[in-house]
Amino acid sequence: MYVDSHCHLSFPELRSRLPEIRAEMAAVGVDRALCICTTLEEFDSVHALATEHDNFWCSAGVHPDSESVREPSVDDLLVLTALPKVVAIGETGLDYYRLEGRSIAEMEWQRERFRVHIRAARAARRPLVIHTRSASVDTLEVLRQEGGGEAGGVFHCFTETAEVARGALDLGFYVSFSGILTFKSAHELREVARMVPLDRCLIETDSPYLAPVPYRGKVNSPAYVPWVARQLAEIKGVGVEIVAEQTSANFEALFMRDGS
Ligand SMILES: [Zn+2]
Ligand SMILES: [Zn+2]
Repeated sequence: MYVDSHCHLSFPELRSRLPEIRAEMAAVGVDRALCICTTLEEFDSVHALATEHDNFWCSAGVHPDSESVREPSVDDLLVLTALPKVVAIGETGLDYYRLEGRSIAEMEWQRERFRVHIRAARAARRPLVIHTRSASVDTLEVLRQEGGGEAGGVFHCFTETAEVARGALDLGFYVSFSGILTFKSAHELREVARMVPLDRCLIETDSPYLAPVPYRGKVNSPAYVPWVARQLAEIKGVGVEIVAEQTSANFEALFMRDGS
């Protein structure tokens, strides 16, 4: 049985096909999924997925790329994480990929938003779902400054270097691999995956984006997460059932800490 530790089932292209996707998941042994929140405005629809389905859980948070949306306070996040089936804070982090002419100094709003999420995660004793793109040095720095290691969590859809992976592992975080791991060009990422201990790995789809080979370019869904597991198993030189079992156990250890 596989767990998709990061998907966006509330996005219209997936939400509109939910019964079909759930049937596909069941058919290939994907028995659980974590539905990720990207704005406060979106939270109710993400939370509904988790409350309406036994095998879905969700997070609460505002993505660093979400602009012109309501800015969360620590209290906002604490109220949401107290609700049933909300097991994580995020996705949060830093993304300097789309600066659109701004300097990194001008992205202080992103760092401040990230700090708010870390403070909430510490107060709520919930893990963080971290998004980092073109900003790994600052992401690790802000986590260290704010004591993010106390909350723990996962660096999702990992595409960074081995050094960044070590930084995340040293802070006690898990590292999650997506369909990118199966892309032909992802040699360096496969080397990083070789280095990350299996008991600190998670697997995810980040669907609807980043469908793994052989579905690359198509709309992704949690039913494709076994392709990520198969690739990770090949890298680790173990059977896919070992990867399925260990990443599922890791998911439980990280997100089901208090039996939620
Ligand atoms: Zn992300
Ligand atoms: Zn995401």
